[in-house]
Amino acid sequence: MASAKRLELQGLGVSPGLAIGRAVCIETQMLEVFRFPLPESDIGAEIERFRQAVEMAEAEIQTTRLKAHDELGDDLAAIFEAHLLMLGDRAVLGQVEKRIREEQVNAEWAVYKTAEELGERFESLESPQFRERSDDLRDVMRYLLRALQGVAHHELSELATDVVIITHDLTPSEAVRLGRQQVVAFAIETGGLTSHTSIIARDLNIPMVAGVEGVTASVTDNDPVIIDGIDGKVILHPSKSEIKKVQRRIAELENRERELLSTRELPCVTRDGIRIDLMANIDLPEEIDDARNYGAAGVGLYRSEFLYIEASPELPSEEDHLRLYQRLIDEIHPHPVYIRTFDLGGRKLAREVMDTQEDNPVLGLRGIRLTLARPKIFKTQLRALLRAGAGRKLHIMLPMVSALDEIYDFREFTAGVLKELKKERLEHTRDFDLGVMIEVPSAALVADVLAREVSFFSIGTNDLIQYALAVDRNNEHVSYLYRPLHPSMLRMIRFVIDSARQAGIDCSMCGEMAADWHYTALLLGLGLRRLSLSPRMIPEIKAQIRELTLSELAPVAERCLEMGCAKEIESYLNDVLVQSPLSSASI
Ligand code: PEP
Ligand code: MG
Repeated sequence: MASAKRLELQGLGVSPGLAIGRAVCIETQMLEVFRFPLPESDIGAEIERFRQAVEMAEAEIQTTRLKAHDELGDDLAAIFEAHLLMLGDRAVLGQVEKRIREEQVNAEWAVYKTAEELGERFESLESPQFRERSDDLRDVMRYLLRALQGVAHHELSELATDVVIITHDLTPSEAVRLGRQQVVAFAIETGGLTSHTSIIARDLNIPMVAGVEGVTASVTDNDPVIIDGIDGKVILHPSKSEIKKVQRRIAELENRERELLSTRELPCVTRDGIRIDLMANIDLPEEIDDARNYGAAGVGLYRSEFLYIEASPELPSEEDHLRLYQRLIDEIHPHPVYIRTFDLGGRKLAREVMDTQEDNPVLGLRGIRLTLARPKIFKTQLRALLRAGAGRKLHIMLPMVSALDEIYDFREFTAGVLKELKKERLEHTRDFDLGVMIEVPSAALVADVLAREVSFFSIGTNDLIQYALAVDRNNEHVSYLYRPLHPSMLRMIRFVIDSARQAGIDCSMCGEMAADWHYTALLLGLGLRRLSLSPRMIPEIKAQIRELTLSELAPVAERCLEMGCAKEIESYLNDVLVQSPLSSASI
């Protein structure tokens, strides 16, 4: 395996574990096509957008054709000439425009469906010439979609086994799709610990290293590679002895995993007998089993936006939502399930599902803002939630709330949907718990006001840190500034917990801070009694909690609250707290 030169690259370990495999380099993002309805007033603009995409695609093919001509000769350049001819075919373009107009759908969907239909027609014809046209058509469709979605396309057709994906950037939906194939690890140039792609890699138990500068330039397809998601290393062309060593470590990790699983039945209590609820964060249906296997006391966060990936290329139907919510609540019963309404936008599927093009999407139409701005799409989800609540306990959680008005708007919208369900005589609940994520600083700072209006809070530190410290959670260049122990964070967390306690409502934390044992003692000291985290992390955090004495932690938290910077807090915590029973590193 190890003939070429060994090379070791350092990044950030964002999904623990080790893997040995062969590199598959993905240059760019893959495309997804979703169907969504357009209001009549938008049809003209959508057709115009399609026409612009045709021009862009033409220009791109033209460039490729010239390059192919210079480098590869006339024969290959002819392929691109065929593409250009097809793109100039008014009949084909006319069909796409007709579909946009008549079906009132987005251009991506119209292109996809038209190409699919024409392709089937070509393929049903005997002549090999027509079959070739079907391939051309597919290529042209890709050019068009790429132009429409503003992304370059990469075809990932035949994956070998033990694939290590090497790429510049990866969206969460790509990570889901690839993770379900033969992929054993990811290494990407961008990203951080709390980016959704990293969260998905952890969900799927796939080792991942993020922020590996230069990895795409250093690797070629099929290179042997080791990914160390614990220490954040990518090792190209490893030696035989190195491979053996990693194989041994993989076996050790598997043993440790078995040991941890055996602690499932142990109660999650501190030394002085205080019970702490460890709930699961779930993104994908396969994690329902994980939640149970790792002994979760319920699901503290179900990120429903991932259902939109599952249903791709269509939007999920009301029945899709309903089936999943019923299953989730029933399988986790008697423990509670907190279902978050879709938190699309930002980097999560906005382009594909909602067709938003924003310069600064993380500060744009995401979470509850997008939900309220797309009532038709949200109604489908809300109807399913209320129907799933018939005969079951339903907890609905709203993402990205930044002001009280959003809760009022949600309630008003819900009142209309409840009326509709009643009129249709569909079984549903009117009695559900409504809560909000506290992940925007403005919400944290009015937590006392919000607490009067809802039944629970869940602190989302992934975003709260990003917005409070003005540090993009996906940006590897500023990841050193992404500090959960910044004093502003501790003050906000404390205020949110106190506000909840005074109002007599529940408060938990579902951001990744809750999954890191370095912070467990502090969070309990600040007053949290409920944490929600990736199911796989539950045994480790439980082991940590069982070593702690709660009565000693409040003074530690008080002391931290008096300190002026993250570094001071980190070194103080390192001095006073015992290390994790399972890990050896300090903060
Ligand atoms: C958070 O922001 O902490 C959170 C849990 O939500 P998400 O990671 O989905 O943005
Ligand atoms: Mg969030």
